[in-house]
Amino acid sequence: MAELESLEFGKSDFILLDEVTMEQFMENLKLRFEKGRIYTFIGEVVVSVNPYRQMDIYGTDTIDAYRGRELYENPPHLYSVSDAAYKAMKRRAKDTCIVISGESGAGKTEASKYIMQYIAAITNPSMREEVERVKNVLLKSNCVLEAFGNAKTNRNDNSSRFGKYMDVNFNFNGDPTGGHINNYLLEKSRVIQQQPGERNFHSFYQVKNYYCIFTWKHVSFLWICKSSLCVLMNEHLCLCVQGNLQFESEAESVFVSTPEFLVHISALTHTDPGSLRTSLLCRTVATGGGDVIQKEHSEQEASFGRDAFAKALYERLFAWIVGRINSIIEVKNYNPVLHGKNTVIGVLDIYGFEIFENNSFEQFCINYCNEKLQHLFIELILQQEQEEYEREGIVWEHIDYCDNQIIVDLVEQQHRGIISILDEACLNVGQVTDTICLQSMDNKLSQHPHYMSRQLNPSDKSLEFQKHFRIQHYAGEVTYSIEGFLDKNKDPLFQDFKRLMFNSSNAVLQQMWPDGQMSITEVTKRPQTAATLFKNSIIALVDKLACKEPYYVRCIKPNELKSSVIFDDARCRHQVAYLGLLENVMVRRAGFAYRQPYERFLQRYKMTCEYTWPNHLMSNDREAVKAIVSQHGFDQDVEYGRTKLFVRSPRSLFSLEQERNQLI
Ligand code: ADP
Ligand code: MG
Repeated sequence: MAELESLEFGKSDFILLDEVTMEQFMENLKLRFEKGRIYTFIGEVVVSVNPYRQMDIYGTDTIDAYRGRELYENPPHLYSVSDAAYKAMKRRAKDTCIVISGESGAGKTEASKYIMQYIAAITNPSMREEVERVKNVLLKSNCVLEAFGNAKTNRNDNSSRFGKYMDVNFNFNGDPTGGHINNYLLEKSRVIQQQPGERNFHSFYQVKNYYCIFTWKHVSFLWICKSSLCVLMNEHLCLCVQGNLQFESEAESVFVSTPEFLVHISALTHTDPGSLRTSLLCRTVATGGGDVIQKEHSEQEASFGRDAFAKALYERLFAWIVGRINSIIEVKNYNPVLHGKNTVIGVLDIYGFEIFENNSFEQFCINYCNEKLQHLFIELILQQEQEEYEREGIVWEHIDYCDNQIIVDLVEQQHRGIISILDEACLNVGQVTDTICLQSMDNKLSQHPHYMSRQLNPSDKSLEFQKHFRIQHYAGEVTYSIEGFLDKNKDPLFQDFKRLMFNSSNAVLQQMWPDGQMSITEVTKRPQTAATLFKNSIIALVDKLACKEPYYVRCIKPNELKSSVIFDDARCRHQVAYLGLLENVMVRRAGFAYRQPYERFLQRYKMTCEYTWPNHLMSNDREAVKAIVSQHGFDQDVEYGRTKLFVRSPRSLFSLEQERNQLI
């Protein structure tokens, strides 16, 4: 509300639009972006537009201005939500979470960093050493995770290729005492392959300056090390698997055609070169009769195995790093009886909805995750409204909203959903191809209103026969190519590699491969598929978020050119549409656009009414507020709750604001 006065910057809350139309929404969003006002409220939700330039709005002065203040006392900012979440946690002992969403390059990760910085800045005024240590790790772990988990893509120079959820624990003083990071679906295929114009994970390039074992042009994949990054981890580990490890076949047998790399790799993985060679060239299989035999790979199988090994090495290294960070900030010796309730603020920075030229298994998983989060958003935002009305004894009208449960079900439903169909196909090793799997999806899902494929609609030229299927997501249509789905879902890694690494003489490496202990006869049990593992982790995440008081940051990418001056109307409009922002405004307005505790309302508007200025003589604040409302003639537009005044249309408040402005 503080910005209501300065209408040249547009409306600081979309709830104040004269009419909730896409046109007005876009006009306001654009105007604010052009005036350098990158944040706008929808009630408590913050909409952010990536400015693509350094803004002078994150310094200590700004932090001081937001600290401990109410949402409407300052212009919209990430700090507004950070402080609201913090206050809820500290004053009401509520677990809260801040969910940051938006597509790649929209500014999620930057936002999550500012939020963490804010929380760090306003806590631990007495500079207790242990709290400072925890804060330091929470802030600095970010750069380690970015080094290993971020990469340059065509859409974002520093794109997070993993999802991250970070819980920060607080003691009764409101100081951070620890935390925990969950990571989701690292895009490990990047280790062996990147789209034109994209790069491998940052670590590959950062590390070469320190450990120049090969010249850069020789390194085509996997380069792991943590020397400069060992602020958090004290022992040195350096390992390297080389893409240059090539195979050739001659007279039916396959051999490593670049043995010099084999030696290096065995040195770096602390494994025996002979065993490494064997793991690369053969696999151990248990025969039906219970015998264990060695089966030689074809050249193609050997290459496949090598790639899977490289991806797994990187993925496990990443998981290990996250585990290390967690182990040094985990809350120890916390006794709720002695120390009071331990409360949590969670911050979620996870990949946004993705539509590429070619969409594969990864996009399928990511978009499913976004469906789940969107569903949660709808549930929580409506639920919150309803709860508040109930608490305050207000009657309200239910409004319709677009429920995406049907799309969530299409993906995750037991037996009938796409993930189940994929898993079923993966059980039949060797016999089922991607194409057969697609046919099975077509058969089972032909009636589903959000599913389409060429077989079901032969006239649709955009769906290549037998290769593509399309899902009508809440955010738009996405056409997926089925090619590679089964392999990526099965995500096989020969047990031989696991055993090899478990036998590594490097203790850290050995620790990363506990499943290498199993003998081949023990591993015949089918491991869970990648899609099912991902699904379970997302369901667990949603459960975690659902029991917290949610705050939302909705990020918008203004253009594809990383420009600070271009506001691409069509692109922004699309994002506003699929993020459901207009619906969000409607839901907020369908009930009551504004609510304010009586006392605060009075403080602000008492000068506009003769009965309340300078002080009222009524029996309580509620009565005094009634006098103001009556004098301005909008009795029909409000409801009186137990502790708050609820105002239906923003116009009423707007006229009040104008009158107040004339008086001050
Ligand atoms: P996402 O995580 O949504 O993919 P990022 O947070 O990595 O996007 O943002 C992409 C880039 O946009 C950043 O590297 C930075 O250059 C720019 N950016 C994002 N948010 C801001 C901001 N608040 N101020 C200045 N630049 C920003
Ligand atoms: Mg990011």
